[in-house]
Amino acid sequence: MDKIFEVAIIGGGASGLFCANSLRFNSDEIIIIDKSSLGKKLLVTGNGRCNLTNKNIDIDKYNTILTKEVIESFDQFKTIQYFKKLGIEIYFDKEGRGYPLSDKAKDVKERLLAGIENVKYLNDEVIKVTKNQVFEIKIMSGEKVFARNVVMACGNNNLEKILEGFKLSFERQKKVLTGFKVNKGYDCHLFGTRVNCVVKANFNGNKFCENGQVQFKKDGISGIVVFNLSAFAQKHNAQNFRVELELLPSITKDELMKILIFRSQNCQNLLVKDVFVGILDPQIAKYILTRTKIENQQRPVINLTLKEIEKLSQSVKSLDFICNETYEDCQVLSGGIDLKSLDNLQTKVEGLYVCGECCNVYGPCGGYNLQWAWSSGHFVAKMINKRLN
Ligand SMILES: Cc1cc2nc3c(=O)[nH]c(=O)nc-3n(C[C@H](O)[C@H](O)[C@H](O)COP(=O)(O)OP(=O)(O)OC[C@H]3O[C@@H](n4cnc5c(N)ncnc54)[C@H](O)[C@@H]3O)c2cc1C
Repeated sequence: MDKIFEVAIIGGGASGLFCANSLRFNSDEIIIIDKSSLGKKLLVTGNGRCNLTNKNIDIDKYNTILTKEVIESFDQFKTIQYFKKLGIEIYFDKEGRGYPLSDKAKDVKERLLAGIENVKYLNDEVIKVTKNQVFEIKIMSGEKVFARNVVMACGNNNLEKILEGFKLSFERQKKVLTGFKVNKGYDCHLFGTRVNCVVKANFNGNKFCENGQVQFKKDGISGIVVFNLSAFAQKHNAQNFRVELELLPSITKDELMKILIFRSQNCQNLLVKDVFVGILDPQIAKYILTRTKIENQQRPVINLTLKEIEKLSQSVKSLDFICNETYEDCQVLSGGIDLKSLDNLQTKVEGLYVCGECCNVYGPCGGYNLQWAWSSGHFVAKMINKRLN
């Protein structure tokens, strides 16, 4: 391919497609190279509904404050207007998370593709980018693509290898927005159980405290609130940390004790093993009784001592685990290029830009990561549009 494109976008995911939509060039001046089909990952976002932004984006919730300029230049409100023009109406749930009115990620993908209908798409894997007079992009098939500007929008897998000739500095890759395997007193029988609770952790005085639903896996915990905990832990470099689940958040420990004392005084036919009936999920109740080492659970509840009631209540209000490893699956791979080393999302190599997950940026669940993809994709397009005017 001897043609020199004005812009080559490597990766046609959220940030790459948004960047392509925001470039003001003739379509035949732009090429998108993607090893997969365009926008494929968008289809699985938000469980197929695509949580594409958040009404209440709080910059402090990203891992770095350096996102501020980029997000503010194209924030959630501009994003909403932009998608409106593309044919996507957005609604917000009570937590402020924005979804397409149709609740279909497929619509987001299709409208983004409609905006770049005539842009050239090359379905191949990029293995190396170098620069002489112009950029030379080597692809798996052996072909080369030439371009004056390159936008890296391929996420954080292999980025370092692709750009190795430029001697840029990269942050170590880590999994973010994922669950944790836990190693203290876990019981695999909890698998499949879900519980609403307050999740708490403390990393050298930086406190995480969020309400949500925890899902128990075979060997650990997951769910949106745990994903958010993983982003917070990552931000504070926490490893092997203690997490505390406060179950039954609508009542205090004293109120729970009163209920159990009432049962021990009035429920003649209730056995200790059933002391939490109607209060907790049976599997969780069983786990708490075992973990608290309550003996002889076949005896009537009227035999429970005050000390045992205290221990049980304490365990319910402060169920703790040690989180060590993250799971393989994650929503975001942190690492990539540090924003500090970039100038308006351009690397020290003139004409080489990065956006989306290629940057070491991540936020909690709730539309933060797609918002970064849109904002940074748009920002890069704006920079390139400016250079060429
Ligand atoms: C299951 C799941 C659900 C998610 N849900 C949400 C959500 O609801 N809301 C939210 O805000 N965030 C969500 N995220 C995170 C969000 O999807 C990402 O932050 C976002 O997609 C990042 O955009 P990107 O353009 O940087 O990368 P991607 O969207 O990953 O796109 C990168 C593209 O580059 C291509 N590529 C990679 N390497 C090469 C190469 N060498 N050569 C050519 N092409 C290459 C890939 O095929 C891909 O198409 C979710 C993530 C996952 C995994």
